[in-house]
Amino acid sequence: DFNLSESDPEVQSIIDKEKERQFKSLELIASENFTSRAVMEAVGSCLTNKYSEGLPGKRYYGGNEYIDELETLCQQRALEAFHLDGKIWGVNVQPLSGSPANFEVYTAILNPHDRIMGLDLPHGGHLSHGFMTPKRRVSGTSIYFESMPYRLDESTGLVNYEMLEKTAILFRPKLIIAGASAYPRDFDYPCMRKIADAVGAFLMADMAHISGLVAASVVANPFEYCDVVTTTTHKSLRGPRGGMIFFKKDPILGVDLESAINNAVFPGLQGGPHNHTIGGLAVCLKHAQSPEFKNYQNKVVSNCKALAERLFELGYNLVSGGSDNHLVLVDLRPLGIDGARVEKILDMASITLNKNSVPGDKSALVPGGIRIGTPAMTTRGFTEKEFVSVADFIHEGVQITLEAKQASPGSKLQDFMKFVTSKDFPLAHRISD
Ligand code: PLP
Repeated sequence: DFNLSESDPEVQSIIDKEKERQFKSLELIASENFTSRAVMEAVGSCLTNKYSEGLPGKRYYGGNEYIDELETLCQQRALEAFHLDGKIWGVNVQPLSGSPANFEVYTAILNPHDRIMGLDLPHGGHLSHGFMTPKRRVSGTSIYFESMPYRLDESTGLVNYEMLEKTAILFRPKLIIAGASAYPRDFDYPCMRKIADAVGAFLMADMAHISGLVAASVVANPFEYCDVVTTTTHKSLRGPRGGMIFFKKDPILGVDLESAINNAVFPGLQGGPHNHTIGGLAVCLKHAQSPEFKNYQNKVVSNCKALAERLFELGYNLVSGGSDNHLVLVDLRPLGIDGARVEKILDMASITLNKNSVPGDKSALVPGGIRIGTPAMTTRGFTEKEFVSVADFIHEGVQITLEAKQASPGSKLQDFMKFVTSKDFPLAHRISD
């Protein structure tokens, strides 16, 4: 029984390098975080060895008495962490991640080719909400269901609820999704509930990005208005990589969500649950009920406001004018540069963030903005003061990108900029998180 460094120094060395990269860089990707040692201990435990298809008390394999205890504990903690009454809400903690969780909901409540409406990806939505281009149905969601995305009002950067309502009345979706990967404001859940009711649609929230903020009650609460709520567990919630689906226990629109969703997870789309992840998630959900966690989430938001204010002072154009949550979206187009090049230059200075499309981008291939998130560095102890410095560093990176455009011929900087501005430079649009 050798440890990792003895049995596989090659993998150990890659892990060491990645650990150092994480340690040394300014991690500003809005969907990332640093989970706790306790969570990682559970994820790296013997729980990974066990098969347990089914649900607690109803398994297809023997030897599951402790796994049953663990999954039941995880479910209870999930309901407690989000302040839910177990008579009204149930939860499935087995989804392997956020995209599978979403597809499991669609499989549970829709028939193939039923209609859905989610926020368009270039306007901040997630792939799994039905992204397609005029040429291609990109996401499995748009292959198996008919997707008509709703969008932002480009003049305000806010969801265009009026247009959503008008389109929903014409398109008559069976499901409307509230949730985003790059939206700095709260969703108007009451308004979306009204629209869903008017057209007879289910309302689902995908709170993947904001679930930690929801648990700490520092943003609007989707549970008050939605029939189903999905989430990842590794973003602001700060748990292991995984997913959860919360569902109302009473039938909605004639569908028994509890059995439909549980059956869609297994045997519909998954096999054995990842019990090591469920162990890590249970640990995370205990932390999520602590006063320290609430304090942390408050700081995530106040740090984000400080970051937004400083960027604003420096003259940047922020989509929607600011932020109510854990991320800001900066529109770089007025400066004549795009997000891909700024991402690359900041990466070279160990500042990790991502290029992001902003409303009004002509081409999804050249995203005009960057997305900056505060959860990870707040975990590492950053306060508002450090986030003001983060804004200044980003500003420096943007200045270098601009100055490099005029660098003297033959200089290294100019060579670099030639590459960065050439056709060979990878401009791939953010589609994954
Ligand atoms: N939903 C939203 C809103 C997301 O931002 C993401 C990922 O970033 C997902 C779902 C998908 O999660 P995963 O990458 O775990 O499949």
